[in-house]
Amino acid sequence: VALSEFELIQQYFTDLNGPRDDVVLGVGDDCALVRVPDGMQLALTIDSLVVGVHFFADVDPEALGHKVLAVSLSDLAAMGAEPAWATLALTLPQVDTAWLAAFSRGFAQLASHFGVQLIGGDTTRGPLTITLQAHGLLPVGQGLRRAGAAAGDLIYVTGSLGDAGLALRQRLQGSPWQTIDSRLRMRLERPEPRVELGLALRELASAAIDISDGLMADLGHILQASGCGACIQLDRIPLSDQVRTAVESSAGWELPLSSGDDYELCFTLPPMHQQTVARLSENLDLPITRIGQIEVASGLRCLQADGGLWQSANSGYEHFRSHEQT
Ligand code: ADP
Ligand code: MG
Repeated sequence: VALSEFELIQQYFTDLNGPRDDVVLGVGDDCALVRVPDGMQLALTIDSLVVGVHFFADVDPEALGHKVLAVSLSDLAAMGAEPAWATLALTLPQVDTAWLAAFSRGFAQLASHFGVQLIGGDTTRGPLTITLQAHGLLPVGQGLRRAGAAAGDLIYVTGSLGDAGLALRQRLQGSPWQTIDSRLRMRLERPEPRVELGLALRELASAAIDISDGLMADLGHILQASGCGACIQLDRIPLSDQVRTAVESSAGWELPLSSGDDYELCFTLPPMHQQTVARLSENLDLPITRIGQIEVASGLRCLQADGGLWQSANSGYEHFRSHEQT
């Protein structure tokens, strides 16, 4: 029996993980109504995942439900915002109840972990596309921006880099999902947004960003916005054993530095906060690694273990792209 749009929303998407007491009105009216506490401001971020572009058509729908929320919560984390609410626009080729049940389960699990309530959305028919807007709360003026890094600041990254990129690379080279290491696959399909760290960094970091397009590109955004440069040491970049092996065999440093989907945080802060970062890393049980330092001279320099400068094989392509766009 085909579900009507109303029944579909009712069954799978009504106020997932509610009620929060700051939600005046959730799913079911023309708009949702929420209360923003005095002294707080809203942080809003939206991302679309399109089949064939951002995920494979045969992706586990439960993992997709997790990921669509995780990528937006990662943006909130990078801003230092506390997740509160979400709205979801779904474009579906057909109504597949098993798929919807799994998708909404994956979504609800992560939402409940961070206390996020789904308060509205839109549902249409078409090529599978999932758009999520996440709404977070920040004390007025405390947002962690990309601008603000200064020469002398230390540069840190969380977790390890290149795991999701390696899983994707193996899949694109023809490995079936079942043959890809399950830890790597989890890193691609179920990123863990660094929300607690983002909150803790509000009063510490001079700049922050989440790494969604690779460290080079995303640290590059901090440097651009802050009007400075940086030097990082490749032998400090945190790598899993699998990624280290891939780097040393055929993938090269492009894998951890330029592949997407890490959803780790990159941030900068003055050296006086070093001890605090070490304590945070311990308390949150999250590796946080110092990889380099902000410098006055613009550009990003990557130092190899032997002291030589590493040159990306992609840099020519990057150049071409910016040329083409202007
Ligand atoms: P409208 O015609 O006013 O846009 P809709 O029929 O699109 O209303 O949606 C009805 C209600 O269901 C609204 O409150 C909307 O926010 C909610 N809604 C629709 N689709 C979703 C969804 N995928 N997830 C959560 N809420 C949804
Ligand atoms: Mg609508």
